[in-house]
Amino acid sequence: MEPADTLILGPLVVTMGAEERILDTGAVAVRDGEIVAVGTREELEGCEAAETIDATGRLLMPGLVNAHTHLGDSLFRGLVEELPLEAWLERLWISEREFVSRESVELGARLSIVEMIRSGTTCALDMFWFPEAAADAAVGAGFRLVTGPIFFDFDGPDGVSVEERVATGERWLERYAQEPLVTPCVQPHNQLTVSPEGLRAARDLADRAGALFHTHCSETATEVRQTVERFGRTPAAHFHELGILDERTVLAHCVHLSDDDFARIRRAGAAVLHNPLSNLKLGSGIAPVARMLEEDIPVALGTDGPVSSNDLDMWTAMRFAGLLQRGAHMDPVLTPARDIVRMATTIGAEALGLGDRVGRLAEGYRADLILIDLDRPHLTPMYDVYGHLVYTVGRDDIRSVMVDGRWVMRDRGLETIDEAAVLADMTDLASVIDRHAAALDRA
Ligand SMILES: [Zn+2]
Repeated sequence: MEPADTLILGPLVVTMGAEERILDTGAVAVRDGEIVAVGTREELEGCEAAETIDATGRLLMPGLVNAHTHLGDSLFRGLVEELPLEAWLERLWISEREFVSRESVELGARLSIVEMIRSGTTCALDMFWFPEAAADAAVGAGFRLVTGPIFFDFDGPDGVSVEERVATGERWLERYAQEPLVTPCVQPHNQLTVSPEGLRAARDLADRAGALFHTHCSETATEVRQTVERFGRTPAAHFHELGILDERTVLAHCVHLSDDDFARIRRAGAAVLHNPLSNLKLGSGIAPVARMLEEDIPVALGTDGPVSSNDLDMWTAMRFAGLLQRGAHMDPVLTPARDIVRMATTIGAEALGLGDRVGRLAEGYRADLILIDLDRPHLTPMYDVYGHLVYTVGRDDIRSVMVDGRWVMRDRGLETIDEAAVLADMTDLASVIDRHAAALDRA
């Protein structure tokens, strides 16, 4: 074998590959950003490599995929709290309109990427204004991002009018088509904020570019009721009737589905992006995930944006995804831990159209991987690996993170972002945002 760039020796390896093999004392070799060998320590020990890492006592697994978030929202985390959903959004959008710019969104994205790398996430699907800001932040940080043009039926803080959205989106998709770490998608907000014509235009744009199609669907009971009142059908039925629901469509939330909606989504081959933290914090309800799994609907996992879940931590999202279904159905064998880990790795990657590249530790896959410390009181002993990953491991246990073959965090030190500078810049901007919000409250 040709010499590897990096050889990781000795960890417990959770492959999530074809047979979901677990290697007690394993090894992984990486060359040119690609995983070139996965085996036991004995099998790979003799391999030549530029860098060999002794990872005995650690756990190696694919990096987590956060399948639904709004990275720029970290600018506003905690700014507006304790209001009903509609009033909350209205209040938040005042601050967004005032402070969202190309520069501020890039700062928010960089802050969110620091948080995600530190918690073992290596890939995210982001929907926010100025998607080029998040894309550039990701490329700069060596982070894998799915993002792209957004659609709303009003002129946004990005200065793009409704009429210009398709042409602007077209240019965006061309610009990032060849960027290895950026996977383009087209993302109308939802069926109430984007007209049927707008949804069709967005879908045509996605089709022309071969891009993923991402939207919100049935997040709250109010939204579903308003959709039925306006269009005479549920959100999923609306998407189906418009011809925009198929295997390249991903639907965030799906908390309130009719019986027919399940069949529609399953037949279309669309994936659901489940966000338990924001669904609970915003009082939206509990998504029927157990039934989705029973009906073979692919369910990926996300955190949603930092203003609605207040956290980009996928470990907490995994834990809630498991706990919620068991509590709601009073059934302790629902949503097995391995299924939850799949949602955050393989299924997440597949839903985002990256199933042949990331989400598994397997030969030929890109090297997106994380090392977890196991020599911790809460992780010793470990009888059940998947149970530990869902119910015990937390973000502070993440030691090192590699994306596309490059270490972005090594022994808890960030390699690609100046974290102190990001925090200082954010603190400065936050004091201005806070003063503006306080003035609004006094008015
Ligand atoms: Zn969302």
